[in-house]
Amino acid sequence: MKIKRVEIQGFKSFVDRVALDFESGITAILGPNGCGKSNIVDAIRWAMGEQNAKNLRGRAMEDVIFGGSESRKPLGMAEVSMIFANEDGQAPAAYRQYAEIMVTRRLFRNGDSEYLINKTPCRLLDISELFMDTGVGARAYSIIEQGKIGMILNAKPEDRRFLIEEAAGVTKYKSRKKAALRK
Ligand code: ATP
Ligand code: MG
Repeated sequence: MKIKRVEIQGFKSFVDRVALDFESGITAILGPNGCGKSNIVDAIRWAMGEQNAKNLRGRAMEDVIFGGSESRKPLGMAEVSMIFANEDGQAPAAYRQYAEIMVTRRLFRNGDSEYLINKTPCRLLDISELFMDTGVGARAYSIIEQGKIGMILNAKPEDRRFLIEEAAGVTKYKSRKKAALRK
């Protein structure tokens, strides 16, 4: 599944709606310090289900909502949508009929959050399952940030196994087994 487009509104420094189109090939994001390059990566990670504010460089999840600037008032909601091309039919069976899959996450200042797939409300679990075993997703290896390579090299074999299982496509089954055993 390839990222086609990312739409960001009210997330971190992106107060107005911004749409970024990703063409085929390599996309590079350039700009001066503090202009919001890393915020784009945070937005992508967040839309894919990241639950830990620290992995988004914040203290609390509310920190992702635009907090105001000299000229703009704080906003009450952050929203990020990612549109994936599913031309190769790589998506899980439930979504295989769609040429495009849109994943949306919203967070309101009162703490309410919403997850949507193709504009239909869904659970966080549905978003996680959509990405499991694709290498994409909040916990996977598709986003390699500063320091991650060193972390992978220095990790304990048990921890490194997580990445191998994701690449091999068994993460989904392990996660379902864990959920079934809990019931
Ligand atoms: P560098 O080149 O230094 O890595 P960058 O382009 O990656 O910079 P970011 O870290 O993406 O920059 O953006 C930092 C900016 O985002 C800061 O100016 C910070 O104030 C702003 N910012 C972060 N969270 C919020 C928020 N909730 N509301 C408003 N602005 C925010
Ligand atoms: Mg940065």
